[in-house]
Amino acid sequence: MPPENPIASLADRVATGDLSAVAEALNQIDDDRPENRERALALLDALEGRAAGTRIGVTGAPGSGKSTLLDALVLGLRERDRSVGILAVDPSSQRTGGALLGDRMRLGSAARDAGVFLRSLAARDRLGGLSEVTGPSLDVMAAAFDTVFVETVGVGQSEAEVIDLVDTLVFVAQPAAGDLIQFMKAGILEWPDIFFVNKSDLGDAAGRTMAELRAGLELGSRRDPEYEPPVLCGSARDGVELPALIDAIDAHQEYLDTSGQRPIRRRTGRIARVRNALSTRYGRFGAARLTGSLAIESFIDERPEYSVERLIENLGIEVEKALGRDGP
Ligand code: GDP
Repeated sequence: MPPENPIASLADRVATGDLSAVAEALNQIDDDRPENRERALALLDALEGRAAGTRIGVTGAPGSGKSTLLDALVLGLRERDRSVGILAVDPSSQRTGGALLGDRMRLGSAARDAGVFLRSLAARDRLGGLSEVTGPSLDVMAAAFDTVFVETVGVGQSEAEVIDLVDTLVFVAQPAAGDLIQFMKAGILEWPDIFFVNKSDLGDAAGRTMAELRAGLELGSRRDPEYEPPVLCGSARDGVELPALIDAIDAHQEYLDTSGQRPIRRRTGRIARVRNALSTRYGRFGAARLTGSLAIESFIDERPEYSVERLIENLGIEVEKALGRDGP
């Protein structure tokens, strides 16, 4: 019998939704010792074709009710028999992952069953920018669970980054005057696929925010002119309009398939992730070295079986060669 390949068998276990395998895989890709790098890349490559889970971003200002909403959504999805993974990006990196996890796990008994997995990551900075491990962590979780959420905080920075990682972006709005102008300034209205005005129990304020959002959407440009993002209003705390939100998520997923947008989004996301990583590592000018000799997009298109991290690694080697050749 051939010796067992530990990476292939870990990938198999992840794909069955085995929670301890998911935890082990996430630890492996988070381990940045150079001697571990190849194992992590091999694992991500092995999972690449299997990451079939729906990826949903949930974003909004602190206090808008994202955590409350996610806990309620998890219950709703478990009732529909779907397994769920949550990746929570915490901008206050002072708190340890463990403490945050403990915090959040107080919520709902469904959050503790075998079909739910939660992982917290520190943000890259206080604006809620995403750390480099966010993308690959989602890739692992999407191979394990039916639905994977990534929860990010902040107005601006994190939305722009999370859009490259997800199929559907849900924006949670806090009913309060003035927020909208901030969103519009930050160019945020263009990205979300679904708006959920939370705290409908606050009455008029929620209604006004909903009207402002609708008006703002009419004025602004949209990522996909064919798709009109629904604006819902409900209460995460009281469970109002949550089934409608799950239905809106499902409807957007269906739209991605029937319109042919899903592969377009996935491709755009892969390219953006690779470009961002290369310019973070080598600077804008370093990454620009590649465009002459080797177009980044065609390199990516020709390698659909490669994980994003493998693409970054291989293109990084090309950048280093190009920089070295021109060196002193
Ligand atoms: P996050 O910072 O966006 O994750 O927000 P949280 O989920 O922690 O919620 C912030 C506060 O809003 C908490 O005190 C929640 O209890 C409260 N909250 C959440 N949903 C509702 C709601 O539907 N109505 C009201 N009135 N409060 C809510």
